[in-house]
Amino acid sequence: MAEPKENVLMEKITSLCKRRGFIFQSSEIYGGIQGFWDYGPLGAELKRNVKELWWSTMTRMRDDVVGLEATIIMHPAIWRASGHVDTFSDPMCDCLLTKKRFRADQVEPQTGTVIWFSGADAGDSPAADGIPTVGDVVAEAAKQGHFDDSGGAPERLLKSKEPMLSGSDQPFAVLLPKGKPDETAIKLAKQFYSSRGVSNPNPRFEKKEFVENSQRFNPENGSLLTPPVPFNLMFKTYVGPTATEADVAYLRPETAQAIFAQFKNVHETSRQKVPFGVAQMGKAFRNEVTPRNYTFRSREFEQMELEFFIKPDEAVEAVTGAVATPASKGHPGEPQPNWGWQLWHQYWVEERIKFYEGIGLPRTTLEEYWQKPEELAHYARACVDILFKFPFGTQELEGIAARSDFDLSQHERCSGKAMGIFDEELRTAFGKLPPEKQTALKDRYYAARLKYLTKMGVPAAEAGAAAQEDADGLAKGQYIPHVIEPSAGVDRLILALLANAFTEVTETDAKGKSETRVVMKFHPRVAPIKVAVLPLLKNKPELANKAREIFQSLRGHMMAFHDEAGSIGRRYARQDEAGTPFCVTVDFETFEGVKDGPQAGVKDTVTIRHRDDGKQERIAASELLPWLLARVK
Ligand code: ATP
Repeated sequence: MAEPKENVLMEKITSLCKRRGFIFQSSEIYGGIQGFWDYGPLGAELKRNVKELWWSTMTRMRDDVVGLEATIIMHPAIWRASGHVDTFSDPMCDCLLTKKRFRADQVEPQTGTVIWFSGADAGDSPAADGIPTVGDVVAEAAKQGHFDDSGGAPERLLKSKEPMLSGSDQPFAVLLPKGKPDETAIKLAKQFYSSRGVSNPNPRFEKKEFVENSQRFNPENGSLLTPPVPFNLMFKTYVGPTATEADVAYLRPETAQAIFAQFKNVHETSRQKVPFGVAQMGKAFRNEVTPRNYTFRSREFEQMELEFFIKPDEAVEAVTGAVATPASKGHPGEPQPNWGWQLWHQYWVEERIKFYEGIGLPRTTLEEYWQKPEELAHYARACVDILFKFPFGTQELEGIAARSDFDLSQHERCSGKAMGIFDEELRTAFGKLPPEKQTALKDRYYAARLKYLTKMGVPAAEAGAAAQEDADGLAKGQYIPHVIEPSAGVDRLILALLANAFTEVTETDAKGKSETRVVMKFHPRVAPIKVAVLPLLKNKPELANKAREIFQSLRGHMMAFHDEAGSIGRRYARQDEAGTPFCVTVDFETFEGVKDGPQAGVKDTVTIRHRDDGKQERIAASELLPWLLARVK
C-alpha cells in the first residue's frame, strides 16, 4: 500500500514516545540500528501489562490451553521442515543508482513517462576510439597466461568487437513524473553509467513510454530498480566454535515452530486432550528488507502465539455424527464437541477481537480481512487478518490461520518421530459406525492425507501407501491433530495502543491563553502506571507523609507512582501524558474532614481524579485499594 511520506500524527506519537520514555531507538548513541527498538520505563510497563493480559486470557483463564517457553535457537532441521529455509523470503530489489534496498511489493507505485536507455558510449566515440573491445581485453588476458590451462582463449571472444565498458550495456531507465524535463533523466543516466566505470558517458536513448502505478522505479529519484530477487528473512548464526556451514543455526523467525516440535512432550505431560492449545510468547527475528513505520515492522520483535490443536473433521464426525457448520457471523459461543475446523476458526477470530476490545481498542478501529483463496498458503484452509487502523494505514495486527495438519505432519515426516495421537473415544465410536459411513470417512481422510503428501513431493506409490496407513489409523483412533493458529505481534499491539490512546486536548485559561497538551487515554488494564499518589503540597509534612504511606500500601498491588514536585496541575498533566488513569490526592480535608456535601465531616478521605474527564471524587482512604483493583485488573 502506498504510504503518505509524512505522517504528522506518527511524528507526534514518536516524539512523545521518546520524550516520555515509551520507546527509544536501539543503540541511539551510535546512530541507531535500523529495525531495532528499545522500550523505556513507561514502554516496558505497558509491554509487560499487554503480555501478562494475553498470557492470563489465553492460558490461566482457560482449562484447555497450557504454556510453553522454548529456546530462540533450535535445531536447524526445524526450519527446513517448516519450510522457512526454502521459502521464508520477501522479494527484494535495489535502486540501480543509489543502491538503496526496497521490498519489491512495497514500493510506492509511480505514474509518469519512462525514458529507456540501452547503454552508454564514452562521449560520442565509437568503441574503436580508445575504448577496448571485448576481443582486445581477452587477447591481453591470454597474453598474461589466463587461458593457459583451459586450451586457450575462446575464438568467439577474441573476435568480438563489442566495446568492453564495464556495465555500459546495462539497460537503464528513469521515470519522470508529469512536468519533469527529459534532461533530468539524461542526467541520472549519465550518473548511472559513470558509476559503472564509463568515463564521460553518453547514454543511448532507446524509447519513451507512459506507465501507470509501476513498482519498478525508485519513488525518491525515478531510477530503475533491479528485478526482484527472493531474500530469506531468517538471521543466521553459528553454534559452537567453528563457523562452517554445518554449524549454521537460525534465530527463530516465529515462536510457533517450537510448539509443534514439543507437541508430544506437552501432550503427554499436561494431561490435556485434543482439542487443546499451547501458548507461547517471546522474541522473534526477521531480517526485514525494509523495516519501517516505527516499530510496526521491526527486525527483532515479540510474538504471542497460540497453536490450538483440534480433531480432523472426519474424527469429529465419527464421534458426534455430524460436524456443525457456522450458522451465522459473530461469536459461536461456548465450544462444542461437534465443532469442526470452521467453527473453531471462527471462535478464535471472535475471541481475539474480544481480547482487543477488552484492552481498549474499539471495534471501529479493527477490521477482519479474510484472505482470498489465491492468497492462502497451500496448506491453509482459511486465514483471517485482524487489521488495525494505524495512522499510516489499516494493517495487520494478528493473523488467525486454520493450518490443517500441515505442521505436525511435516515434523513427523522430517524427524521420523510420530506426531499423531491416539483417541480412545474415536476408536470406540468408529467401531460402532455403519460400514458405509466408515468407508466414507476413511476415504475422505485418505484423500486429504494423499493431497498433503503429494504436495510435499512424496512419490505417488509411497504417498498412496502412507495415506492408506493414515486412513486405517483413523479407524483405530489415531490421527495427526489439525491446528488453528492465532498469531499476534506484541510490538504492533503496543503501537496500536499508543496510537489509539494519543489524544490532544486544547485548554484555554482565564487570560484566554490556549495550550494543547497530550492525554494518553490507555485502558486502565494496560496503562503503564495505574495510580499516582500526590500530596497537594510538598512542604506540609502531614500531607507528604500520608501520601507516601498510601503509595507504599498500593505499590505491592499495582504499578503506583509517587510525585511531590511541582504544582498539582503540572503533576496531573505529567500523569496524563504517561496515561495514568487515576491520580490520588492527599489534601487538608484528608485530616480535617470533608468541608461540605454528603460526606461533610468525614476524615481520612482522598480525592481521586479521573484522567479522561478530569472529574474528581472523594473516597475513604481505606477503600482505595479495592476501588483501584476493581478498575485496573
Ligand atoms: P506481514 O505480512 O505484516 O509481514 P506476516 O503475515 O508475515 O506479517 P506473521 O508471520 O503471520 O506475519 O506473524 C504474526 C504476527 O507477528 C503479525 O501479525 C505481526 O503482528 C507480528 N509480526 C510479524 N512480522 C513482524 C515484524 N517484522 N515486526 C513486528 N511484528 C511483526
